[in-house]
Amino acid sequence: MYLRLCILFVLLTALVGAEPDPHSFSRPEQAQVTHLDLDIAVDFQKKQLIGSASWDFQLKEGNKIVFDAKDMQIRSVQADGKYLPFALGPEVKWLGQSLTVFVPDGTKRVTINYATRPEAAALQWLKPVQTAGKKEPFLFTQSQAILARSWIPCQDTPGVRYTYDAKVKVPPQLLALMSATNPTEKNAEGVYSFRMPQAIPSYLMAMAVGDLEFRSLGDVTGIYAEPVMMEKSAYEFAETERMVDAVEKMYGPYRWGRYDMLVLPPSFPFGGMENPRLTFLTPTVIAGDRSLTSLIAHELAHSWSGNLVTNANWNDFWLNEGFTVYLERRIMEELYGKDYADMLARLGYGDLEHTLEETPSIDTHLKLELKGRDPDEGLSDIAYEKGYFFLRSLEDQVGREKFDKFLREYFDDNAFGTMTTEAFLERVKNRLGPDLGVDKWVYSAGLPSSFQEPVSTRFQQVDNQKERFFSGTTPSELETKGWTTHEWLRFLRGLPDTTTVAQMKALDQQFHFTDSGNSEILAQWLVTAIHVGYEPAYPAVERFLVRVGRRKFLTPLYRELVKTPEGKERARKIYAKARPNYHSVSVGTIDEIVGWGE
Ligand SMILES: [Zn+2]
Repeated sequence: MYLRLCILFVLLTALVGAEPDPHSFSRPEQAQVTHLDLDIAVDFQKKQLIGSASWDFQLKEGNKIVFDAKDMQIRSVQADGKYLPFALGPEVKWLGQSLTVFVPDGTKRVTINYATRPEAAALQWLKPVQTAGKKEPFLFTQSQAILARSWIPCQDTPGVRYTYDAKVKVPPQLLALMSATNPTEKNAEGVYSFRMPQAIPSYLMAMAVGDLEFRSLGDVTGIYAEPVMMEKSAYEFAETERMVDAVEKMYGPYRWGRYDMLVLPPSFPFGGMENPRLTFLTPTVIAGDRSLTSLIAHELAHSWSGNLVTNANWNDFWLNEGFTVYLERRIMEELYGKDYADMLARLGYGDLEHTLEETPSIDTHLKLELKGRDPDEGLSDIAYEKGYFFLRSLEDQVGREKFDKFLREYFDDNAFGTMTTEAFLERVKNRLGPDLGVDKWVYSAGLPSSFQEPVSTRFQQVDNQKERFFSGTTPSELETKGWTTHEWLRFLRGLPDTTTVAQMKALDQQFHFTDSGNSEILAQWLVTAIHVGYEPAYPAVERFLVRVGRRKFLTPLYRELVKTPEGKERARKIYAKARPNYHSVSVGTIDEIVGWGE
């Protein structure tokens, strides 16, 4: 009986399309938004956005439209000049509240007047001292996965797309930017207009306000940054236009007009966020030698995988990220050669191995089940790296030429649409062949038995040097000339647990890791320093944790600290200082690690 019910359910799901998004109250099958006119003012004193969201929509059945809202004050709802009744549902953990608006027959547009609360999870309000320039405050949003609803009442599911126009009023000395057509200069009134003519899902809604300026990098690329960050940023990201050319050659046209980037203050919780037309970036990718620009390749690649063809809901997150890591490495191979891309794949495999060890096996499937949980939990290396290796296995089996053609058609056929894991696998079976072992990758734990570890020739050379070091060669005699960040990461990640404080000191004297300006190298070094008890690096641990809010770096450092009772005490002391600098996304993760509030 159970089995029959299951089959029936599967059939029904196949008939009506994707299952409803477990992380949204909206019911797009009844009423679905098509366009947003946003009109808001930014108040830094009150840490509040105040204004209105006017939504055009299609009423398909019944007389109501449901939105998602979180930590938000809904003041009134209007249509055609009249006030409409509305109801806020009970607060649900992670999800916030449903906002149901009751509409008369024929209603096509409602205006929701609202204000955000200071604790709105998407918004991070920075004091001047938390910026690079130290003079003006800064605001940025992070909407993925389900935080857009904390700054705009919206149908907050990746399955619903809409176009938008916006008017944003800010203090006149600041510039406002969005995931849309953007101004390149401040104006005296501090009022800015935006237009996003391509339909996007809500998690790509983005805004930043700060003392920002613009510099062009090429025909379609440019950079926004605080004035003191501009020179460094423009140098670091100068090759972006070449990346756009490379990916267009492989996977078809870039469909979003311009590709600009915004360098944020260091508390930004992610490496980058692929907000369309305006990638948001952590300043921790600025290494001074362009060695961390695979992150730009990654965010740019999202213009195809994720932004153009979007996961239907967060259970299909690997469709966004696995594809993007695959594209990212193909771009890097185009620009810097196969041996370079091989290093990235090998490092990615190292991350994946680690994540596989720590993750409950059900969460190591590509297709996830995140119902009743914070979808942010899906943001692990599984979606990224296992997703990448799955696509690479398809490429290996059918050949690059055929696979590239398949991908190009995939993006063309599904542009500005959504994709489910099931529909993608169907497409693979129909177009690439029925026996490619896809189900094992997607619906089973870990890696299939046929999986072969990636090899990097450049890392073999690194491993040789490491061996020489541990057999007594002094650091100055090691052959490290020409090593990129990736070789150093390989070296540092491979330091054994038995590394002594004396060995750490010798390495530090020669290579100055504790003073490194490269965040990737520094973060890796500090993890090892905590692990082996290399005390000269402890002040650097604190400085780094207080300055940087990028979760990828914070997590391993705090995890390493809390392994001992003394370390845990230090972690909590540092965290008390650092916590106000972190975005809610990082706070959520680190609270748990250090047992905050216990
Ligand atoms: Zn990504």
